[in-house]
Amino acid sequence: MTFSFDLTGKTAIVTGANTGLGQAIAVALAQAGASIVAVGRSSMDETERLCRDAGAKFHSVQADLSSLEPIEHIVAEATAVSGRIDILVNNAGIIRRADAIAFTEKDWDDVMNVNLKSTFFLSQAVARTMLADERGGKIINIASLLSFQGGIRIPSYTASKSGLAGLTRLLACEWAAKGINVNAIAPGYFVTNNTEALRNDPNRSSEILGRIPAGRWGDPTDLGGAAVFLASPAANYIHGIVLPVDGGWLAR
Ligand code: NAD
Repeated sequence: MTFSFDLTGKTAIVTGANTGLGQAIAVALAQAGASIVAVGRSSMDETERLCRDAGAKFHSVQADLSSLEPIEHIVAEATAVSGRIDILVNNAGIIRRADAIAFTEKDWDDVMNVNLKSTFFLSQAVARTMLADERGGKIINIASLLSFQGGIRIPSYTASKSGLAGLTRLLACEWAAKGINVNAIAPGYFVTNNTEALRNDPNRSSEILGRIPAGRWGDPTDLGGAAVFLASPAANYIHGIVLPVDGGWLAR
C-alpha cells in the first residue's frame, strides 16, 4: 500500500487567503510542500511571509470574486507563474445576517455570487486546464455546517453552502473518472471575521460553545490537516464528500 501527504512540486490556488481559514489552509499546504497562488481582494503580505517561512514559493493575484470578470486572469496568471494548477481551494466566502422576513435581494445576490457562482465558474476554468493535459487535480470547496443544517438569520449563506455541497457532489460525479477529485470541508465554528458577530453576542456565543463536544471554538490551524489530506495522493479515491471539521458539532 502506498499513500502520501506530500505536496512537493504541486501548485495550489487558494481564494480568500489573506486571513482566517484561507490563510491557515494556504500555510498548511505550503508546509506540505505546495507552491501557493493566493487570490483575494486584500493584501496578502502576512500570508506570503508565513508561506515563505514554510519554504514555499508564493504568488498573489488581486481579484474580486463578486463577479466572474477576474476568473480568466486568475487562471492565466497562476498557470504562467507555476506551469500548472494542481489544487484549487475555493475558500473565499461572505455572510450576511438578517431575519428571513426582512432579507434583501442585495444580501441574497452578494452572497450567492461569491460563495456559489464564482466558485462554480472558477472550478470550471481550472478544471479545463486539468482536463487539457489529462493529469487531473484536486478541488476543495469550503462548505459549512449550513451545508447540513438550517441555521437562523443567514438565508443566502445557508442556501449557498447547501448548494455548494450539491455542487461538490455533481462535479465529483462528472470529473472523478477524469482524475479530478472534488470534495468539500465543512468547518464548524472557527475564530475568524466570519463569526465575529456571533462571538460578540454573549447568548449566541455561549449557546454555540455549549454544544461543541470539543468544548472550544475551532482555531484556523485546526483545518490544515483536512485540506492537506484532501489535496494529497492519500485522497485519490475520495470523491464528493463533505468532511466536517467541527469539534464534534454534527455528532451531537
Ligand atoms: P473571513 O471573513 O475571515 O475570510 C473570508 C475570505 O474571503 C477573506 O479572505 C476575504 O477577503 C475573502 N473574500 C470575501 N469576499 C471576496 C471577494 N468578493 N473576492 C475575493 N475574496 C473575497 O472568514 P473565514 O471564516 O476565514 O471564511 C473562509 C471560508 O470559510 C468562507 O467560505 C466561510 O463561509 C467558510 N466558513 C467559515 C466558518 C467559520 O466558523 N469561520 C465556518 C464555516 C465555513
